[in-house]
Amino acid sequence: MAFSASRDAKTTIACPNCADKLHITRTCHEVFMRCPSCKAEFPLQKYIKQADDAMESFLENVYCNRI
Ligand SMILES: [Zn+2]
Repeated sequence: MAFSASRDAKTTIACPNCADKLHITRTCHEVFMRCPSCKAEFPLQKYIKQADDAMESFLENVYCNRI
């Protein structure tokens, strides 16, 4: 079993470059949006206002896991 699910979630937000669905991803220190197709990355702030259920539950986990 992989633990990648807790670090990366598919959202319903379309990539502005290629229209594939963006993923929300976190590293140790930050959370951002990325596109698996064209490899573009976007700041979370740009999309936080249109956050969908996948993003909201992902962010809840991020904040719960913070030390
Ligand atoms: Zn893209």
